[in-house]
Amino acid sequence: MRMIFLGAPGTGKGTQASVLAGKYSIPQISTGDILRKAVQDDTELGRKAKAVMEAGELVPDDVIINLVNERLSQSDCRRGYILDGFPRTLAQAESLDQLQAIDAVIYLDVDNRVIIDRLTTRRVCRGCGKLYNVATDPPPASGRCDVCGGEIYQRDDDSEETVRNRLDVYYEKTAPLKSYYQDRGVLHIIDGNRPIEEVRADIATVFNRFSRS
Ligand code: AMP
Repeated sequence: MRMIFLGAPGTGKGTQASVLAGKYSIPQISTGDILRKAVQDDTELGRKAKAVMEAGELVPDDVIINLVNERLSQSDCRRGYILDGFPRTLAQAESLDQLQAIDAVIYLDVDNRVIIDRLTTRRVCRGCGKLYNVATDPPPASGRCDVCGGEIYQRDDDSEETVRNRLDVYYEKTAPLKSYYQDRGVLHIIDGNRPIEEVRADIATVFNRFSRS
């Protein structure tokens, strides 16, 4: 099963992709996570990406395409994968098409107001990436993750100003991919405004339909 999670930042792509990947033992490939790790490790890729990410802009296509091509060539991707945060531009989608056919694209549809609320209240564990939310799923008072003990922090790009810019970038560069995949007959639109469990059940229905065929 080769699946893409498409949608604006904060629509729940990471949360849903991680559950599905764990359940079916296929890798979740999050370009955002790979880039954040590179920034943290101060690699050449991280130095290229840091300022762009902090501003909520997109890392250049050639950098991302090379990164994803290399990741998809690894042996754990042979049985399939879930792409989370890639592709984000038409050039990225076209390059992926040349590499491999995608079975399904899940488009998570969420209202802007909900997105801004979710992202500005989101917190992340620096160790294992577990997501918390100060309003709905608060982190422990110690400020340490209850899974791995890592430091819990707010991403630089989750400030309201940067979130608004990320949304502008999304509507300009990434939203056109919805019709791109619709035209190819692989798009599944899911209402992501609902509780996580309901969204998860709808995604599982799509996944099961494809993994059985
Ligand atoms: P995310 O965690 O998916 O919200 O990504 C965080 C940031 O990483 C984005 O705001 C971009 O700066 C960068 N990024 C992640 N994926 C991509 C991509 N496919 N193309 C360009 N930039 C990306």
